[in-house]
Amino acid sequence: MSEDLEKTNTAYQTIEDIPGLGPATVNKLKEIGFKTIESLSTATVAELVSAGIGEQVAEKVIEAARKSRAITFVRGDELVELRRNIRKLTTGCSSLDTLLQGGIETQSLTEFYGEFGSGKSQLCHQLCVTVQLGEAQGGLNGNVLYIDTEATFRPERVQQMAPRFGIKPKEVLKGIVYAEAYTSNHQTVLLENADEVIKENNIKLIIIDSVMSHFRSEYIGREMLANRQQQLNKHLHKLMRLSRAFNTAAVITNQVMASPDAFFSKAVSPVGGHILGHMSHNRIFLRKGRNNMRIAKLTASPSLPEGEIPMRITERGIESDEDE
Ligand code: ADP
Ligand code: MG
Repeated sequence: MSEDLEKTNTAYQTIEDIPGLGPATVNKLKEIGFKTIESLSTATVAELVSAGIGEQVAEKVIEAARKSRAITFVRGDELVELRRNIRKLTTGCSSLDTLLQGGIETQSLTEFYGEFGSGKSQLCHQLCVTVQLGEAQGGLNGNVLYIDTEATFRPERVQQMAPRFGIKPKEVLKGIVYAEAYTSNHQTVLLENADEVIKENNIKLIIIDSVMSHFRSEYIGREMLANRQQQLNKHLHKLMRLSRAFNTAAVITNQVMASPDAFFSKAVSPVGGHILGHMSHNRIFLRKGRNNMRIAKLTASPSLPEGEIPMRITERGIESDEDE
């Protein structure tokens, strides 16, 4: 990072440090989920105004937070420097890491989609372990925030996977901050209020398993679609902004439906429409093979070539031949 950026980066530690901000405004900001400089730096004026904060104040605090974190125009060479902060998280499965050229990136959104039983939640469980590894082992030396919408998270399963990575079953659960989301609104609110939890718990991975299930079951019919997509858009933007602000990886899982343009084949596509498609950086399709085999196919990525690899689900977790 350039010297200038380094300097401004340390300007304010908490939102209370922003000069000229009264306690009432501080409280309002906290109420609507902006408890940290990091998240405030990614807020929009409209968001703050709709919570009753004056427009000028809103502009001022967002600018102060941004300056504090050097979110402004950068030259290409500086961008390369900033991107240097991006880390890769091992999936714990060598073939999948190869497909992703090292693993799951921080500051971006990775989507795993596939049919029931394709291994999406198993992978999420495994990432709860690998994120806790040190950087030399491909981890992020941090913890995970797990938002579960289908009530399929099993701590015992994470404990079963941990020893292969050298983490004690007794220790591994301490690194997981878990919340079950009961409705799409609850899911949205959980994330909107997550910034302090992320900061205080050194969260380096945010998982939403699965992102669409509530949205899909609550918003039924064409009339509700526009509204659903609007709420979804807001939710995904929040996830993206948290992941940028705190340099965390963000993983979502998604269901599939029969592809509308493939009458005679078994082709499926992820649900969630264009909104989800545009927000997910890397999209990986998981499908069942024989026995416990699974195939992971990278179907969209801003920088990686398409490709597919085999992996399998065993007692030890998700692994490939090279992991024996
Ligand atoms: P989904 O894509 O629906 O989230 P899951 O990730 O839950 O699917 O994957 C379920 C699959 O994982 C099942 O085929 C199940 O047999 C397998 N599985 C779950 N736990 C174990 C285990 N302890 N040992 C071996 N396979 C397991
Ligand atoms: Mg699942």
